[in-house]
Amino acid sequence: MEPKSVWESYSDKQLKDMHTFNDAYRVFLSESKTERECVDNIVNDIEKAGYVELQKVIASGRKLKKGDKVYAVNMNKNVVMFQIGSEPLEKGMNILGAHIDSPRLDLKQNPLYEEKGLALLDTHYYGGIKKYQWVTLPLALHGVIVKKDGTVAEISLGEEEDDPVFFISDILIHLAGDQMSKTAAKAVEGEALNIICGNKPIKMDSPIKMDKASKTKTAAAAKTSAKQTAVKKDAKDEAEEKAKEGVKAGVLAILKDLYGVEEEDFLSAEIEVVPAGKAREAGFDRSMIMSYGQDDRVCAYGSYKAMLAVKSVKRTACCILVDKEEIGSVGATGMQSRFFENIVAEVMNLTGSYSELLLRRCLANSLMLSSDVSAGFDPNYASCFEPKNSCYLGSGMVINKYTGSRGKYSSNDASAEYMAYIRKVLDEGNVIFQTAELGKVDQGGGGTIAYILAQYGMNVIDSGVAVLDMHAPWEVTSKADVYETYRGYIAFLNGEGM
Ligand code: MN
Ligand code: MN
Repeated sequence: MEPKSVWESYSDKQLKDMHTFNDAYRVFLSESKTERECVDNIVNDIEKAGYVELQKVIASGRKLKKGDKVYAVNMNKNVVMFQIGSEPLEKGMNILGAHIDSPRLDLKQNPLYEEKGLALLDTHYYGGIKKYQWVTLPLALHGVIVKKDGTVAEISLGEEEDDPVFFISDILIHLAGDQMSKTAAKAVEGEALNIICGNKPIKMDSPIKMDKASKTKTAAAAKTSAKQTAVKKDAKDEAEEKAKEGVKAGVLAILKDLYGVEEEDFLSAEIEVVPAGKAREAGFDRSMIMSYGQDDRVCAYGSYKAMLAVKSVKRTACCILVDKEEIGSVGATGMQSRFFENIVAEVMNLTGSYSELLLRRCLANSLMLSSDVSAGFDPNYASCFEPKNSCYLGSGMVINKYTGSRGKYSSNDASAEYMAYIRKVLDEGNVIFQTAELGKVDQGGGGTIAYILAQYGMNVIDSGVAVLDMHAPWEVTSKADVYETYRGYIAFLNGEGM
């Protein structure tokens, strides 16, 4: 079975629609570089399309009926949306799932320090990255700093043309003798991923900005008796040490000025370091998109947009966009959290059909497309792929019966019956799809959220979009696949069930 080309199948009108869809997708990528930003932008968009926050429906005391649209947000990082169908919920839902977290560098809890006239921020990487790819790139900071009084400073610095950017240095080739003889895994080590963020000491004619605590400590130390000389000396050293850290003090003064925060507020911050810059068209023919974070925002975007495209559905349509997939779907906002199940219970309750048994039936009778990016065949690394069972850029939506590694370890492995249903639904929707595994057997592998919802006894299959350079700072997709996968999601949501 040779892969088909989506490009050749499209009419002029479809090509136009495809470009329009991808233009909006690029804007979304450029403006949604963290899970929090994804949730904000998605909620703004779906509210315009008539989605109402679940808590508001609960508070109003009204019931949900066919055609109603609701959503719920979990800790600002995870969102689920529903369009109520004509069939009772116990018959199951058609669920689209994807994740909105992406590999990146997070600032540590105590990140800021100064060394030899440079201010630096220490990071801890998140998800699977090739560390050597993250040096000598313009980087941006996105996230929140939450103060003890609960006020939140939102940070997005490095994206505008006149914003400063940040960077991690790499040793010059002239002095890289030791580095070049290391393996790629060791060439740049995790603890060396320190962001350079300043070089200008604060003006010395103004008094050194010390925090209140150390000023008090210095004053108190000055008054101590001779017995406590040691304490006095310590405090003096600390003050001198601070005076030497003029660059760090300068950075802190700027942070105070911009966001009203102190150094210790980093303790309650979540700041993500991501590649700076917008999503771009790639290729002479502008056929591809190069952007940070397409794993898995390409599937998240298509999934939620498909929810807005379907009008009246038989089976309740649902879309769950989760956090923490890249680190094992853990935590309150990951797929393993009970959040999803709790919200389904709330929705059933609002349709007047909740019981523990009906909830279990609903989940077991649901059908799911668990969407995540797939490894697109890369001609530069052809030996890592098995051509008959690889996916290709421009050949449509990808369906993976299983993922996993080695002997299908950690894979969901959908049933043949469900795979047959998916083929039928996609063929009826004239959706071009291809099937694939993640690379050659024994070459590596990976997992998704598919197995987690499968634990309810529901049919789940992996699907998604072929990507080149997965987990690199800049990932590449084909516009044709982005659009065709979105069409596939619509066909799936309109599916009448097995
Ligand atoms: Mn992914
Ligand atoms: Mn990933």
